[in-house]
Amino acid sequence: MNTRRDFLQKMGASALMLQLSSLSTFANYSEKKDQPYQGRVLRVAIMGLGGYGTRVAEAMKACSKAKLVGVISGTPSKIKDWQLKYDIPAQNCYNYENFDEVKNNPDIDAIYVITPNALHHDQVIRVAKAGKHAICEKPMAVNAKQAQEMVAACKKANVKLLVGYRMHFEPRTLEVIRMRKAGEFGKVMFFQGQCGFKAGDPNQWRLNKALAGGGAMMDIGIYALNGARYMVGEEPVWITAQETKTDPVKFKEGVDETIQFQLGFPSGAIASCLSSYNINHLDRFFLSGDKGFAEMQPSTGYGPIKGRTHQGELNQPITTHQTEQMDQMAAIIFENKQPVVSVDGEEGLKDLKIIEAIYQAAKTGQKVKLPANVW
Ligand code: NAD
Repeated sequence: MNTRRDFLQKMGASALMLQLSSLSTFANYSEKKDQPYQGRVLRVAIMGLGGYGTRVAEAMKACSKAKLVGVISGTPSKIKDWQLKYDIPAQNCYNYENFDEVKNNPDIDAIYVITPNALHHDQVIRVAKAGKHAICEKPMAVNAKQAQEMVAACKKANVKLLVGYRMHFEPRTLEVIRMRKAGEFGKVMFFQGQCGFKAGDPNQWRLNKALAGGGAMMDIGIYALNGARYMVGEEPVWITAQETKTDPVKFKEGVDETIQFQLGFPSGAIASCLSSYNINHLDRFFLSGDKGFAEMQPSTGYGPIKGRTHQGELNQPITTHQTEQMDQMAAIIFENKQPVVSVDGEEGLKDLKIIEAIYQAAKTGQKVKLPANVW
């Protein structure tokens, strides 16, 4: 299966179909573990029927606890296609102007926002005001202030806000986290996270600051940052960062091409990370403690995730990340289940606070300190 990087670079209609047909070859981890599910099913509408929205919709076919029942799109022809493909009734179809009316629709429980980053803030707040649970893609917003407002709006409306951190449900990732918690690596001293790919089309929204909120750091670097936090198991107290730009025409002001950043944690552990839109084959994690290590490559692509520790190969089941994520999110929403690593709005807010500090450190060349009360 190709990586996410290849997917974004080469995606055309035929490439997309090939990608999607290979999805069904992966097992659904939850279904294997559980008895046939008899409980309440999370009825989801997807907002934004683009590349990732399509991937989520295909993966949801294998869900037992969640079901795609609605769409929100600005393109009527896409709505028609999706209606046919996923058997979606007309009364569950909305556009960006009228989706507030979902408030009066008892057949939709949650809306999954899968649009360009800068749109998440307003869209999630509208979802909350309509009284529906919000699932939002990463980055959940383009700055911490927006993320804070989204958290507050969902709290006020008494709906859940979850962020699409699919790696938080990935079995091999969870095994490394289990080992770290059990002390099997000893005292964790170092994490390295390298995440990047060559961004293709110069006109895509990902290279437009107004829609993306930044560059690689917002899109792919966030995996290295989030990974540093869940692998080390602490929140950083200081940050340094350096930016490199080799192509200022393609990567305009405010759109970062490559950033290296370093994080210091309260225990003394450090992380060294790389985020890039101009380097291929960057999908690697390395965690080192005084008794052992873990290395994963690929570490955050669509999978299969591969890796080994000082004890041997990681061989937990291979899952379709989005199937697993949506089943587990249904359990978080309806059964109040707590994931091993949080996927709530507060978790997304933490990443944005750190991303702001990374940008500040890269701009000023200064070490940025994050006091403990930031968290
Ligand atoms: P995409 O360009 O393929 O799709 C975006 C969709 O939003 C399109 O259907 C487009 O029509 C729609 N849209 C609505 N308003 C728009 C506007 N004003 N400008 C441009 N498009 C608009 O992008 P994508 O790859 O699907 O990414 C969408 C979101 O999903 C992003 O936040 C991205 O970070 C996230 N994502 C997450 C993962 C993951 O693995 N979790 C992977 C890819 C993308």
